[in-house]
Amino acid sequence: MNGRILFATSNEGKMREVRMILADLGMEVLSMKEAGISAEIVEDGTTFEENACIKATAIGRLCREKALAGETSFEGTIVLADDSGLEVDFLGGEPGIYSARYMGEDTSYEVKNQAIIDRLSEAKGEERSARFVCAIAAALPDGEVLTARGTIEGRIGHEAAGEGGFGYDPIFYLPERGLTTAQLSAGEKNEISHRGRALRAIKETLKRKLGDK
Ligand code: IMP
Repeated sequence: MNGRILFATSNEGKMREVRMILADLGMEVLSMKEAGISAEIVEDGTTFEENACIKATAIGRLCREKALAGETSFEGTIVLADDSGLEVDFLGGEPGIYSARYMGEDTSYEVKNQAIIDRLSEAKGEERSARFVCAIAAALPDGEVLTARGTIEGRIGHEAAGEGGFGYDPIFYLPERGLTTAQLSAGEKNEISHRGRALRAIKETLKRKLGDK
């Protein structure tokens, strides 16, 4: 397929995952920085999908404005944006859409992860169930917005373990593997992660949609 995909993130770790998974589309995949775009977007939605749509729509509009102003490289750009987080059932789904902001954006994950372990001190076995959720929105050049969701089920561990991944990975325990997602390689995590699943789903939707045109 021809054309460009802009992924609305400044997180290099996410970009690596995204490039790996979208490689077979044969399209150029750019970060905001590479496209020379920066924007402060208020994510005030109430669901992962709403927040992903808010980001993709705002950046999509910016691309169309640039194309209309004569910046031809922005013509036909597809904008992807994601929103993700951890839902802990024992905590009524917290931190959910507030995962990045939980206990304050600047609080270290060592502290956040220990706080979640502490809040689950009374929870046993299945009561420790949790999932990572990722919603991805794709804003097409004509303004249409498509979404996809991916999840991975696990449990909150009794202690943090592993050096890989980021964020809540050291406490996200996969009982069937006996490991946390921080103990998986990047490739292994991509295969089963919420983001990997959501990206593969949106890729298939895009293939169908663009193949029809
Ligand atoms: P955002 O999607 O960039 O708004 O960030 C969501 C937040 O959810 C991250 O800052 C992490 O705290 C958490 N999160 C999302 N995906 C993962 C993951 O794969 N591992 C660990 N934490 C994650």
